Amino acid sequence: MKCPENIIRIVESCTKEHPGDIEVRYNEPMTTHSSFRTGGPADCWIRPSGENFPAFAAALLAAAHAGHIPVFVLGGGSNILVADAGIRGIVLDSGGWTGETGGKRQEGLLEFRAGTSLDAAAEIAAETGLSGLEFLAGIPGSIGGAVWMNARCYGQEIADVLAETESIVFSGSAPECTRQSADKAEFSYKRSPFQSRDALILSASFHLRPGEAPQIRALMDSHRRDREAKGQYRYPSAGSVFKNNPDFGKPTGQIIDELGLCGLRTGGAQVAPWHGNFIINTGGACAADIRALIDEVAARVKTAVGFDLEPEILFVGH
Ligand SMILES: Cc1cc2nc3c(=O)[nH]c(=O)nc-3n(C[C@H](O)[C@H](O)[C@H](O)COP(=O)(O)OP(=O)(O)OC[C@H]3O[C@@H](n4cnc5c(N)ncnc54)[C@H](O)[C@@H]3O)c2cc1C
Repeated sequence: MKCPENIIRIVESCTKEHPGDIEVRYNEPMTTHSSFRTGGPADCWIRPSGENFPAFAAALLAAAHAGHIPVFVLGGGSNILVADAGIRGIVLDSGGWTGETGGKRQEGLLEFRAGTSLDAAAEIAAETGLSGLEFLAGIPGSIGGAVWMNARCYGQEIADVLAETESIVFSGSAPECTRQSADKAEFSYKRSPFQSRDALILSASFHLRPGEAPQIRALMDSHRRDREAKGQYRYPSAGSVFKNNPDFGKPTGQIIDELGLCGLRTGGAQVAPWHGNFIINTGGACAADIRALIDEVAARVKTAVGFDLEPEILFVGH
């Protein structure tokens, strides 16, 4: 499939206007950019790196908006299932925009660029002797994706520590860069205000508290070991497939497990034999296999116990 000419024109004009370290690939298979290791080609995949990122991204978003070209913002690709037909339009990969900005230290905050991996952010906080991000150690996503999802685990969620975000909102006529204090009331279970607006999160800062580096590291290591022991990294996956729901009275994974669905297969996709809420790519699974298995599990749960399971992972492309 050939990338549409209007996309190529926009990308060429933006890279000329804002030259820098920008990787551009047309018809790029998404298999290497998603933790499920599945997905067809994106018309265009772009990863800008370095200080040029915000200016380039703003120009690209403006041009794409004017040309009615959809843009999907990619973080670590660890919570998405990309369709076998791929993604039409542009995938803007934030993975080259990483590290601590340093800009908020005088306010007692740590601020990270959106593409920083969660594990790296937790490490930086530990090095700095700041406690509060330990729960993120070992989650294979980015700061931007975690803010967007309000990622959570071990009894904590992003909204508990989030202080401020900087983002480019691109739903209006011209992309607008805004800084916003986080309002916890706008976040809830796996929900953030970014889910109802077209915005590229550029950075996020966090309220942390002084701690002892060895204790911070010990907690991070125990979380990483716990994830290893639960087999989370054994096969490609996107973490938990379905949301939990307090009305179910127990974790969704337990319900699936108790119905004997662990090990259920469709093609190369399988409900992890050791975890009811993980679907794994055992090798060669396509997105359709995973999608079919998700639908099958949801249907069987509905028939057996009457609960409507809501997917946590996002279906991208068509
Ligand atoms: C083994 C494993 C374990 C996991 N464990 C957990 C867990 O314990 N808790 C948990 O909550 N999740 C978990 N996850 C899921 C996932 O890692 C998190 O939800 C993570 O926060 C997603 O981040 P990402 O950068 O990979 O986002 P992506 O999958 O790339 O994107 C997710 C969404 O965020 C948007 N997005 C990403 N970056 C930006 C940005 N800069 N600006 C605007 N929008 C953006 C995307 O457009 C998309 O809509 C796990 C996944 C795996 C594979």
